[in-house]
Amino acid sequence: MHLTDEQLNEYLDEAVNERAQIEVHLSACGECAARLSTLRKLFNEMESLPELALTRDLAAPFMRSSGLPAQLPAWLPLTMALQAAAALIVFIAAAPFVIRLIPDIETPSLSTVLIQFQTQWTAWLDRLSQFHMPSLPAFSLELSGLYLMSALAVVSMLWLVGNGLLLRNQW
Ligand SMILES: [Zn+2]
Repeated sequence: MHLTDEQLNEYLDEAVNERAQIEVHLSACGECAARLSTLRKLFNEMESLPELALTRDLAAPFMRSSGLPAQLPAWLPLTMALQAAAALIVFIAAAPFVIRLIPDIETPSLSTVLIQFQTQWTAWLDRLSQFHMPSLPAFSLELSGLYLMSALAVVSMLWLVGNGLLLRNQW
């Protein structure tokens, strides 16, 4: 009578009482010995499986990060270069209009605008000292288009310079 799979499993687990009996049969029966060695191989594979999975998990971030630089330069600098080029084109195209527009608004009223701003500022400070917070939106509404335009220009320039620095760092 051959050994059962259960007996072989228990023998491999070393959780068996009739150990000597099984060993006697294994030494006499090549079939059961072969089954045992197959089972043992399976056990070893199962034991090494979590280890393999773990090393793969640990290696994964490194594999991912090493794969990134090869992918990035293909599209990111191109997008940034196109952005910078588009911004430059817009600036060059808009320059004549901006130059023509600015003297009309700015030259006659620069001092007036400054005075107006100062007045608004002191008025706002007065209101702030009196804790009249609802007057704040009124102040921002009274800002002239010139302020908005110059703020926009500054932001655009900063964006362009930032993009340029990014491009230089990438290449
Ligand atoms: Zn047998």
